Amino acid sequence: MTYTSTRDKSVRVTSSEAITRGISADGGLFVPTNIPRLSADDLLQLSSMDYKGRAKEILSLYLTDFTPDEISACVDGAYAPGKFASDKIAPLVTLSDGVDILELWKGPTCAFKDMALQLLPYLLAVSASKAAQGRRIVILVATSGDTGKAALEGFKDVPDTQIMVFYPNEGVSPMQKLQMATQEGANVAVCAINGNFDDAQNGVKAIFTDKAVAEKLAARNLMFSSANSINWGRLVPQIVYYVSAYCDLIQENKIKNGDKINIVVPTGNFGNILAAYYAGEMGVPLNRLVCASNQNRVLTDFISTGVYDRRRDFYTTMSPSMDILISSNLERLLFLLTGQNDTLVREWMTSLSKDGVYDAGAALLAKMNVLFAGGFCDEAGTSALIKQVFTEKGYLCDTHTAVAVDVYNRYRAETGDETYAVIASTASPFKFCASVLGALDQKAAEGLDEFGMVRALEKLTGQVCPPQLADLNTKKVRFTQCCEQDEMEEAVLQSIAEL
Ligand SMILES: *Cc1c(COP(=O)(O)O)cnc(C)c1O
Repeated sequence: MTYTSTRDKSVRVTSSEAITRGISADGGLFVPTNIPRLSADDLLQLSSMDYKGRAKEILSLYLTDFTPDEISACVDGAYAPGKFASDKIAPLVTLSDGVDILELWKGPTCAFKDMALQLLPYLLAVSASKAAQGRRIVILVATSGDTGKAALEGFKDVPDTQIMVFYPNEGVSPMQKLQMATQEGANVAVCAINGNFDDAQNGVKAIFTDKAVAEKLAARNLMFSSANSINWGRLVPQIVYYVSAYCDLIQENKIKNGDKINIVVPTGNFGNILAAYYAGEMGVPLNRLVCASNQNRVLTDFISTGVYDRRRDFYTTMSPSMDILISSNLERLLFLLTGQNDTLVREWMTSLSKDGVYDAGAALLAKMNVLFAGGFCDEAGTSALIKQVFTEKGYLCDTHTAVAVDVYNRYRAETGDETYAVIASTASPFKFCASVLGALDQKAAEGLDEFGMVRALEKLTGQVCPPQLADLNTKKVRFTQCCEQDEMEEAVLQSIAEL
């Protein structure tokens, strides 16, 4: 298996190189040159394995320059007993007839990012031993809230790595901010920026591709890599849980092997839903992939018109991890749907960065709409959904999951499509306490601080806040720095000098 770049398909690298570098030098994203297939028999075999067994099988199809022992060690380390609050790692919960919730937030930071970021440091260590020529790795992360914490937790005190995280100062929940500000570990740094997630992501991308900065790093025997979902090492662990969910549906007699399913994903950077697409291309029988957006509905519009237009107001919503106007991983889908047309992808991406818009045209739109459906849910709709689902079904959704459930409900009502559906649930409701509590009872949050709200939400719902969130108020705040977008490079160089 080799990997190429979405912006230059003459590029050929191994999986270790793709993971070590994070992003191609031409600014494109690494993608496998072909997608491995799972037959119905393979799926049946995987069904009899546990999550780790399934992960090992699937990773070995993509990471062909890893030895079986290396893959085993990575997976066993990432999903070791005690790291996830469920033996199943990513359990399915029935919401109603024909609708399951795939809970992806049982890991150490209570968001789905843990599914990949517990594994990525192991993958990167093996990759770097093959491809980094003895250089130590500096991980740069732009986060809309959850990636930052999950990456810090995954990489803390990992030998031969340093990690620096940038987050939008006004764009994350108080719990998310506190999770990052109190991060432990000797190799970590955290900095807020005055700007939104797109500013942070653009800043990080610019630092990555800056030759002068790269030379400064090389002089210290360091090199950059990325823990954002632009890194292939983030995506491949996410493919696993969609295949695994299909296997669980078979195992739990909810579907027959071969039955098609719908998958619904609350989407921001398009990484999670792209992993579902790959699972489908591998052979998981899919009927529709439903892409759910919040009020930042740039993807909903793209899926209905074929025009990607980021020239619009940016909203800070109660589902901050989806407050994104430049969905980086869409580039990978465009590359696949155009039959690996790197010239077109390059033109569109240049047009997006220069003019803020590109038109992918009717042919691509038609191809996309065979599988993808899109929808969005505004703030009032998100609150109403949280309350309705809790009242009627006793299930407590976080704000991101609520967007997905609402978009799915309307999709099903409009289309009459009753295909068995799996809705990705991406965070613990306790990460977004103020919004979730406020949705259930507007007055309940009045006058309470974040931890008062945690207790009120526990009392109101009878559910228990994960201890790693409940105990944050006892942790020491270590990081309070905030910089401008054009000061990010300096902040990185300074932190490298200090760490
Ligand atoms: C990151 C995140 C998302 C969006 O996922 P993408 O892969 O960026 O589309 C949705 N919900 C939560 C809670 C997240 O942390």
